[in-house]
Order: sequence, then structure tokens, then C-alpha cells
Amino acid sequence: MCTDHEATNPTSSLLRRRGFLRGVGIAGLGVVGVGALGVQPAFAATSQNGWPAAENLAVNRDFNVGGVKFPQGVAPGAPETILGFVARQYVDTVEALITPGCWGFNYRTIGGGTTLSNHASGTALDFNAPKHPQGSRGTFNAPQVSAIRAILNYCEGVVRWGGDYSGTPDEMHFELNKPPGDPAVDALVAKIGGTPPPPPTIKEGSTGEAVKRAQTALNAKGNYGLVVDGVFGAKTKAAVIDFQSKNGLTADGIVGPKTWEKLLA
Ligand SMILES: [Zn+2]
Repeated sequence: MCTDHEATNPTSSLLRRRGFLRGVGIAGLGVVGVGALGVQPAFAATSQNGWPAAENLAVNRDFNVGGVKFPQGVAPGAPETILGFVARQYVDTVEALITPGCWGFNYRTIGGGTTLSNHASGTALDFNAPKHPQGSRGTFNAPQVSAIRAILNYCEGVVRWGGDYSGTPDEMHFELNKPPGDPAVDALVAKIGGTPPPPPTIKEGSTGEAVKRAQTALNAKGNYGLVVDGVFGAKTKAAVIDFQSKNGLTADGIVGPKTWEKLLA
């Protein structure tokens, strides 16, 4: 298991983003699952990349690629979708997996510091550790490096390879490099073919991009002729109620997950 891989290069933008996450810590607590509001700051329970971390994190321990399990698994949702894609591509284009030597979730800090490793949030994988020991460079041949670059390029910055650390290299290690909620994460999940999280619930009085998206979808699905202005007014509500009643949904005029599912289908 790699031990101190992430210590080298949290970028200034990442630090700013983490600062932002701290700023909205109260709102984030429900997501982090830390319990009563204000009892524990959200940043205490996130790994280096901003994902929720916990000793008893709900991880998918059945996670495997071609029958090779990653002990302790990975975080479900976007991390599993993205890291599963990376692992399958790795097997298809870089090399077969060996066991033991592949790892996932592991609640621990980075190299003796206080920052939680991305393994602690189930958002990092190690591949074939005996072949690619931490601290060694050049453990892959040129075609393999090209294949790894192709995987990273496809992921458009959402995944970071330990071989790219400016400090101690960690060529076995791949991790999410964007925090939850980052649009690039959802975009990559959609690109891979997973299911991105539904847009927020909206109703009369709501404004913004989600309302525009709903108005556009309503016009496309039901020819309601709504002005796509991002303002959820009486006409939009009437269109939603009509759409819901025609699609077997509760006709309450509120666009929640089930209505979004039908609208975006
Ligand atoms: Zn690792």
C-alpha cells in the first residue's frame, strides 16, 4: 500500500476549493454524514481531494475488475463509476491485474501527517503494487505509459496518476483529483455512461439554470411554449402539472427526482 503519495501537490486552486468546502461546512454535513449540525467541521471528514472520509465509510466491498477484488472496496456513486472505468481500461490497455497487489479504501492519513489519504474516502486505487513500488520511476514501458496517458486524457483532469507526482512518485496509484459536486466529475460520469446525480428539486419561485433546463425539457416533451427564462412562474407550474398528470406522476407542480427522470429521459 502506498503511504505518502498525495503530499506533494495540492494545487492552489484545489486549496481554494477546499477552503470553499469548509465555508459551506454546515450545508455539507448532511452529505458527509457527521451527525448533528455544527458538532464537527466538515473538513475534518474529507480526504485530500475533498471527498467525505470516515473509518466506517459506506463502501462497495464487492468492487472488482475481472474478478480481482480491491480489498475494502471503493466509494459508491461517481468514484466507483470513474475508478471502475479506469481499472477496466487499465486491464484492457496496460496490463493484467495481479493479486495480492491491488487496493482500494483504507482509512489513514498521508505519510504520518494529518491530511487524510484519498484512500480514506474510497476515491483512490492502487494497481499491482509489487510491480510498481512507491518511489520508483519508470516501472512501465513506453507503450504502457502511452496507454495510461490515454486513460488520463479521457478523464480530462478528474483522475490523477501517482506517476505524475512532482515529489515521491507512486506509479501504482490512481485517484480522483476533483471534489464532489465539481461539474467535471458529473460530466465524466455521464461520459462513461453512469448516471449523474439528478438536478435539484425546483418549484414555483425557483430560479436559475435548473429551471431553464426544466423549461427547455417541458417544451421539448410537451410543446408547452414556455419562455426559457429561468424563472419558475405560474405558466411553468401549469406545464409541470400537465406533464406530471400525463406521465403517471404525482401532479404537484414540483420537479423532484422522479419528474426530472421523465423530463430528461
Ligand atoms: Zn495509493
